[in-house]
Amino acid sequence: MSDQSLLKLTPNDFIRFLKKENIFRFYFMFDKENKKVKSSHSVLNEIAQFIENDKRDFEEHEGVFVQLSSKYDILLGAFIHRTDRGQAAGGVRYWSYDNIENYLRDGLRLAKGMTHKNALAGLWWGGGKGVMAHNPNVDKNDPVVREFLYKEYGKFMTSIKGCYVTAEDVGTSVEDMANIFSSTRFTTCIPHSVGGSGNPSVPTARGVIAGMEAAMNFLNGETLEGKTIAIQGLGHVAMPMIKLLFEKNVGKIIACDIFLEAVKNAKSEFEENNFDARLVDKNDNSILFEECDILAPCATGAVLNSETIPSIKAKIICGAANNQLENPINDDIRLYEKGIIYVPDFLTNRMGIVNCADEQAGFVDDDPIIERHLSKDWEYSIHKTTFRVLKESKNKNTPNGKIAVELADKLSKELNPIYGHRSQLIINSLVESGWERSK
Ligand code: NAD
Repeated sequence: MSDQSLLKLTPNDFIRFLKKENIFRFYFMFDKENKKVKSSHSVLNEIAQFIENDKRDFEEHEGVFVQLSSKYDILLGAFIHRTDRGQAAGGVRYWSYDNIENYLRDGLRLAKGMTHKNALAGLWWGGGKGVMAHNPNVDKNDPVVREFLYKEYGKFMTSIKGCYVTAEDVGTSVEDMANIFSSTRFTTCIPHSVGGSGNPSVPTARGVIAGMEAAMNFLNGETLEGKTIAIQGLGHVAMPMIKLLFEKNVGKIIACDIFLEAVKNAKSEFEENNFDARLVDKNDNSILFEECDILAPCATGAVLNSETIPSIKAKIICGAANNQLENPINDDIRLYEKGIIYVPDFLTNRMGIVNCADEQAGFVDDDPIIERHLSKDWEYSIHKTTFRVLKESKNKNTPNGKIAVELADKLSKELNPIYGHRSQLIINSLVESGWERSK
């Protein structure tokens, strides 16, 4: 193990190394003055160097804080990208990783994505992401394990003093958020029963439709009426989306899923409509190549890539799935050169975070603070932002995704009008006070 790069160790082997070195907590933070990534422990300098030199996923992230679960040999991490607009907000993911490099890369990339999403939505939040690396020796479905783990994650959140605020994400549930909430105030997406916002799938579906409408309007001044839409995935977002699309008189919907139950349910729910769904294997991407006006990826990420893009026939791509482009730069160019309008996922699927981001401010029915994202006139609405991105892209002859990222980057550097860059001060204080030595 000693000659092997720490980055190539499995999370379990890395945890063994940490224990041998007596490390329970560690961090990496970006020293803005010297443009260097500093690590809490010199034995982790190799990782700090890797992060500093990485051009793909690292972009001057303000800090990465990680601790070990005291019971389950699981890494509990908080990745903080940029917090000028406010505390870093984004969900906590519970996922399996082959090695530490992949764990770190996922956290860095996802945190950056949240900066873009939150800034484009006009939310006064920065971007961050929680990532927990699954330990294959632990039963992740055991409720006793989950209760302990998420309460511990909450304590970890408390220890980093609110520079990151968590939420639900892939692999975590509203119940997990309730456990986090029992040991920290720095979480959202808690259940309705304790004053939270619950499941955001319907607002997310509405947000994706707002993006589709804007793109169609931009393309040729038309509406969704009579159009053909192909949808990959028949899950929590796609099902209400199909219902709403038929209410808007779309002509036809073709969909697929890898689960027979999902296909059967959808067929029975929409049997009165011009709807067809098929069961596919997880590597079967044929739905992407359907003759249609709009393609909506609503299953997994990375489906738009060098292999799939050449065969796509849709004029517009607009869906809920996160990180649809396998390579955010090259695949964005590929779509643009093929003349396909691509509404970036972080622009159109924002309603998940919008729905829970301000839940501490209370609730009203048809909340105008939430509804304005779905309007056509608010400056930061999905409709207006999509239009702005597509127009600028055309004027500058630049791919849609690149324009959206540039706009998001600019907005993400605006300073929070009440708190200023307070989360950076929190990060500095954690480093100065020796957070890594506290228990
Ligand atoms: P979900 O898990 O309920 O649904 C996804 C569906 O896709 C499942 O039915 C699954 O069987 C199917 N699927 C998986 N791989 C497939 C494949 N290769 N081909 C066809 N079908 C496949 O998830 P969801 O909540 O509906 O979210 C859909 C996507 O949108 C996810 O990528 C999610 O991260 C993203 N998203 C969701 C929300 C939200 O509010 N739920 C918000 C933002 C982004």
